[in-house]
Amino acid sequence: MKEPKTLQEAIIHFANPDNCLTYVAAHRWPNGVECPTCGRKDVSYLANQNKWQCKSAHAKRQFTAKVGTIFEDSPLGLEKWLPAVWLIATAKNGISSCEIARSLDVTQKTAWFMLHRIRKAMASGSLMKMGGNGGEVEADETFIGGKARNMHKNVHERRITGQGQSFCDKTVVMGLLERGGEIRTQVIPDRQKHTLQPIVRQHVEAGSALYTDEMGGYKGLDREYLHQIIDHAVQYVNGRIHTNGLENFWSLLKRGINGTYVSVEPFHLFRYLDEQVFRYNYRATKKHPRTDSDRFSAVLSQVAGRRLTYAELTGKVGETVN
Ligand SMILES: [Zn+2]
Repeated sequence: MKEPKTLQEAIIHFANPDNCLTYVAAHRWPNGVECPTCGRKDVSYLANQNKWQCKSAHAKRQFTAKVGTIFEDSPLGLEKWLPAVWLIATAKNGISSCEIARSLDVTQKTAWFMLHRIRKAMASGSLMKMGGNGGEVEADETFIGGKARNMHKNVHERRITGQGQSFCDKTVVMGLLERGGEIRTQVIPDRQKHTLQPIVRQHVEAGSALYTDEMGGYKGLDREYLHQIIDHAVQYVNGRIHTNGLENFWSLLKRGINGTYVSVEPFHLFRYLDEQVFRYNYRATKKHPRTDSDRFSAVLSQVAGRRLTYAELTGKVGETVN
């Protein structure tokens, strides 16, 4: 099966609906086609309908490659969806719905919806603990500004970058980064001990080296981790004790939000985080020289089991999008 290497190759390759189906089927079912309802593998292919049929007599026994994926129920063809995935998975600082709308000749509302569905496929489902085997993990939080829409530019910038005095209308984001490995983030209600520490325990192997700033929420973790603290009032780096990996990620994140989006509402922030985290975790490194083609293929392998309806996305029931 062909793996397009560039945007141009992707557009040409996926202009053919058969190529789209082959690609999506191969990525969502890497071990062969499976019935999305019952899991049976001895399904038959109905060539003239581009569908498979399960041998068990249950509802929805005929299915397409789109069933149960982020593409399900979308009236848009895969020849629009796949180039959209390519654009989003490979954009360095993110891409706006206006840009997608222009590039693919769809409405902005449709592009916005596509962007959110694709972000859902970009979310990491990893349950492996970080650290362990001498791994080093940084933990840190940042503030992302809330009601930035109608604010004066200076105020807007100060709030978005977290340099302002008041944090009351901000969303707190916590990050964990394994040096040389992956990053995970989540939106949290506050920076209290009872919020931060269970997250550390859930994601980081006990006994790992853990680096944080002097924030009180991390106090006491030295009983379970090799916890070392950098006091930012004194210095930013002390040998291996620093949180610079996360600081760099936060500035990338904020540059992305400032440069690409007018504002990110707190309700949607976690999806934007998923998108940026995906890009970070699939970046090219010495150990893993990943390409745009690899990033695209990684999203496609996660499209199944992640449907997102318009009502879920907006809280509005009864509206549809096309
Ligand atoms: Zn079945």
